Amino acid sequence: MGYEAIIGHARPKKLLNSMLENDRLPHALLFSGPPGVGKFTLAMRLAKDLFCERSSACDHCRSCQNVERRNHPDLRIIESETSIGIEDLRNLQKEIYQAPYEQKRRIIIFDGAEKMTRDAANALLKTLEEPPIYNLFVLVTSNEREIPLTIKSRCVRVGFGPLSRNDIRSYFLNLKHLDEKKADLTAALSYGSISVGLFWLDEAHLLIRQKLAEAILGKTKSYVLITLLAERIAKNGTEMLVYLHFLLSLLQDLWLLHHSSGFAAIRNTDLVDLLRGKRYDPEWIVLSMNKVQETIRAVRYNIGRWLAAEHMLISIVR
Ligand SMILES: [Zn+2]
Repeated sequence: MGYEAIIGHARPKKLLNSMLENDRLPHALLFSGPPGVGKFTLAMRLAKDLFCERSSACDHCRSCQNVERRNHPDLRIIESETSIGIEDLRNLQKEIYQAPYEQKRRIIIFDGAEKMTRDAANALLKTLEEPPIYNLFVLVTSNEREIPLTIKSRCVRVGFGPLSRNDIRSYFLNLKHLDEKKADLTAALSYGSISVGLFWLDEAHLLIRQKLAEAILGKTKSYVLITLLAERIAKNGTEMLVYLHFLLSLLQDLWLLHHSSGFAAIRNTDLVDLLRGKRYDPEWIVLSMNKVQETIRAVRYNIGRWLAAEHMLISIVR
């Protein structure tokens, strides 16, 4: 089967392969796992696999190309930045009771299934209770807790874990053609997520990272700069979490450098000179880590991001 191009995730791939080989695909799958690890990519691969005109997911035939362009008549992708509402489901329901156009099956991928409103979820539940046989639903989510239990119980769950540092490294080496040094650093900063790795390829994000490191390590005490940094990192909740995890990694690196012999485990290898600058008080490192953790929780609970960021930076920099 054509899953070789997808890095990592041996277990989900094995599970899907065995379902396909035995022709035992359920009518609904739940792809659940951390963001940015390739769940949607694997769902699209599954669509290619089922629709391919040659062998499995050849990437070149008309069907594979149409899936790639999201333009296959038997593929529906339901997604939204904000929420998936009842209208989306009504439009879908008109279609799913008709036979597919070209294939034996129609595939309906919900990307970000946790964004369904309650009405939409109820409508989907009704569909899943009496599913028209030729439809395969794939619910993709990085927030499984938000999916109603009644829906989950009608899906076969395929669990995804974070990718290993090695998997991510080889992704950036082989598919993004980074040099070894850059691939190592990107993998170390990615925390098991390709999207986080891609985030760190952006020079603008790297510049903010540098400024954050300098502020945290006391190279600058300018409160104007700290306020600006707080505003910048708090712009977007997802990005803020990435920056906060970077700060955690920086503090962990400080600890490793000054209070243990774990040099090999250091993530921010490009910032080692900055980290070595002076000896940092272990108590301050621990307090700062707690502060960052606290801010991560605040962001997850949607508490005023900008204020939380500013408060955190000021209390760490002091
Ligand atoms: Zn093909």
